[in-house]
Formats: sequence, structure tokens, C-alpha cells
Amino acid sequence: MTATYESTFVESEERRDLRAAVRALGSRYGLDYLIACGKEHRPADELWREAGKLGFLGVNLPEQYGGGGAGIQELSIVLEELGTAGCPLLMLVVTPAICGSILARFGTDAQKQEWLPGFADGTRRMAFGITEPDAGSNSHKITTTARRDGSDWVLSGQKVFISGVDAADATLVVGRTEDAKTGKLKPALFIVPRETPGFEYKPIEMELHLPERQFQLFLDEVRLPADALVGDEDAGLLQLFAGLNPERIMAAAYSAGMARLALDRAVDYAKQRTVWKDPIGAHQGIAHPLAQVRIELELARLMTQKAAFLYDAGDDFGAGEAANMAKYAAAEAAVRAVDQAVQTLGGNGLASEYGLASLIAGVRVGRIAPVSREMILNFVAQHTLGLPKSY
Ligand SMILES: Cc1cc2nc3c(=O)[nH]c(=O)nc-3n(C[C@H](O)[C@H](O)[C@H](O)COP(=O)(O)OP(=O)(O)OC[C@H]3O[C@@H](n4cnc5c(N)ncnc54)[C@H](O)[C@@H]3O)c2cc1C
Repeated sequence: MTATYESTFVESEERRDLRAAVRALGSRYGLDYLIACGKEHRPADELWREAGKLGFLGVNLPEQYGGGGAGIQELSIVLEELGTAGCPLLMLVVTPAICGSILARFGTDAQKQEWLPGFADGTRRMAFGITEPDAGSNSHKITTTARRDGSDWVLSGQKVFISGVDAADATLVVGRTEDAKTGKLKPALFIVPRETPGFEYKPIEMELHLPERQFQLFLDEVRLPADALVGDEDAGLLQLFAGLNPERIMAAAYSAGMARLALDRAVDYAKQRTVWKDPIGAHQGIAHPLAQVRIELELARLMTQKAAFLYDAGDDFGAGEAANMAKYAAAEAAVRAVDQAVQTLGGNGLASEYGLASLIAGVRVGRIAPVSREMILNFVAQHTLGLPKSY
């Protein structure tokens, strides 16, 4: 297909319709709902199920498994619009984007049959666990290890900060297996159902009002059948990257949604609030930083679209750089958007009624997870600029 001005920069009618439909759903829930779920540790089941019924959760999943047959571009629209309406769902990054993409590309037909229809209609969720307490950003250092025992796998290790484990039927755990020839450890992915003996999860108290709690996982000799392994034991890294690019693109959409929400609220307020003779938005001290945020946000959204476009076109390598840059830019734009929105509202910026204070911690997540700002700068320094590796 030859790229035209329209196909490149003007959103198609279908995508605009999708935005409007998701926005309408999100507006019925909104930020107050999200904050209430977070305070009560509820996983936003009502919104999740309704989004599933409307076909939003599985837009990127193959049609033959109940999905919409579209791509990460569409799924990122779903997340961005829910965020703009005040109710971004972190589990959208995890279940359909990471786990759904990996299973759709590398799962067996039986694994796809078992999981994808439930991801799409909102009846089943899967968490994703890679981070470990002693490895952190250095995922080459993870020590969760799987050994073979007959045809079974036995998995042991620990994970930390894993989102939504309580609401998920299973967790896709990144472990390592030993190469029979070299003895070297290589990554491999395992589906671990929540109630499997030896699998325990403990919530971490976080200062975040999110419906998705974070958990510490303890895997103590967790026995899994042979078909718990996803894809090829020898191609774990490749499979992992098939999930991590969508993760970063969705993380960018998560940040962009919250940035738009904060900016919308700040602009509305700045048009109305008058303390001298004009609305405060007439002061450049208020207007310019908001305009700056808008520019940074649009640039981040453009890079997110580019990353999603490349990923959907099958260019995993090109998508990797763009997804990292998009995630970085959107997180930075979101942190600045919320900070400036709080400033614009003055005291009300921190009042519960306006909801902006709750976003302060929410947008900070984007700078840390799923990959930190510093690790993205390392990636760009090393891979894009060709500078020596610093660690
Ligand atoms: C709300 C939330 C949800 C999460 N959900 C999940 C999930 O569902 N699944 C999952 O697997 N993980 C999840 N995580 C974990 C997240 O991916 C990690 O927190 C993140 O990758 C950073 O790892 P760390 O916290 O161990 O920080 P560390 O690796 O200890 O890093 C600490 C600081 O040092 C910096 N740093 C480290 N190494 C370098 C270096 N070489 N150069 C420069 N700076 C460096 C980092 O950038 C960071 O600022 C979640 C985290 C949060 C906060």
C-alpha cells in the first residue's frame, strides 16, 4: 500500500468512531469511579466487563479468537480515550497488549482457544510478571528458573510490583530455563494459573489510587504441565519482545490519556476563573505552559502512532526504537501536564473535588514502569546514537 497524506496523518473514520464510542463509555465512569476503585482496592470489574462486551478490550486480537482483528493502534486508542475520560485501565497494557500479543503470535492453538476469547470479552484476565526484587531494571539478571521434571516444568523464584494479580486468572511469568547444551540460562514464558499450588501473591501498599494493585509473587516449586510454556523454549527473547513493544506503546497511550484529561481540566478552569479583571488563562504565565504541554503531548502522540503503525506492520525492530521514544515522551508530557494543571487550579489543584492531585502519582508511574526513563535514555544513547554502553 502506498502511504498517502490521508492514510498517514488523518485518522480514519473507523478509528474516530472507535475513539468516540470508547469516550462515551469512559465518560459514564470517569475519574471519581477510578479513584473510588483505587481506594477500595476494587479492580474496576464493571468497566472492564462493559468494555469487553463492547469489543474494546480485544480490538487487537485475531477475529477467529473473538477479537476485533485490528492492531495495537486501535488498542492504544481505547486506552488513551479511557484515560482522557478519567478511567485509564493499567490492565489493558497487560492483558490484551502484552499477554494477548504474545499468545496470538506464539501460543499454540489450544492456548489461544483457552485464553484469547476471554481476554476479548472481558471474562478472563492475565497478569505479566518480569520484574524481580534483585534484578530490577536489569532483566538479564532475573533468577526465576524453570527446570524440567518428566514432561512437567517446576518453576521457582520471586517477582515484585506485578499488577492486577488478584483479578487475573493467571500470570504470564518470565522465567529462565537451562540450555541443555551450553548450560546457559535463557528466558522462557510460562502461564501460571493463580490457584496453582506453590504460587503465592502478597499486595504491596502503594500511594496510588489505581484499581490495579501491585503484588509480590512467591513461586515455590510451582509444578506446571508441559503446555504451560508459551512458544518455543529457544526463542524466549524474541517472544518477549513481541510483548514488550506493545507494552511500551500502551504505556505511552496510558500517559497521553491522563495528560489530555489534566490539560482539559486546566484549560476549562483557566477560561472561567477570574481573580483580577480577566480569566487567569489570559495571563501568559498560565497560558504558555499549557500551550507547551499541548505541543509536547501532540508530539508524543504522533510518535506513539508511528510506533503502533510499525508494530502492526510487522516491523518489530523499527517499532522498538519508536515505542521507547513514544513511552518516554508521553510520560514526560503527562508529568508536566498534571503539574501545570495543578498549578493552574491553585488551591483547587490539590482539592479532592477536582481529582488532579490523584493524578500526580498516577503519571509518575509512566516515568518508572514498564521501563524507566533512564533505561530508555540508555537505549537511545546506545542503539540510536551508537554511544558506548555505560552499564
Ligand atoms: C505501578 C507499577 C506497576 C508495575 N507493574 C508491573 C507489572 O505488571 N509487571 C512487571 O513485571 N513489573 C511491573 N512494574 C515494575 C516496573 O517495571 C519496575 O519498577 C521498573 O522496571 C523499574 O525497576 P525497579 O523498580 O526495580 O527500579 P531499579 O531497577 O532498582 O532502578 C531504580 C532507579 O535506578 C535507575 N537505574 C537503574 N539502572 C540504571 C542504569 N544502568 N543507568 C541509569 N539509571 C539506572 C532506574 O532508572 C531507576 O530510576 C510496575 C511498577 C509500578 C511502579
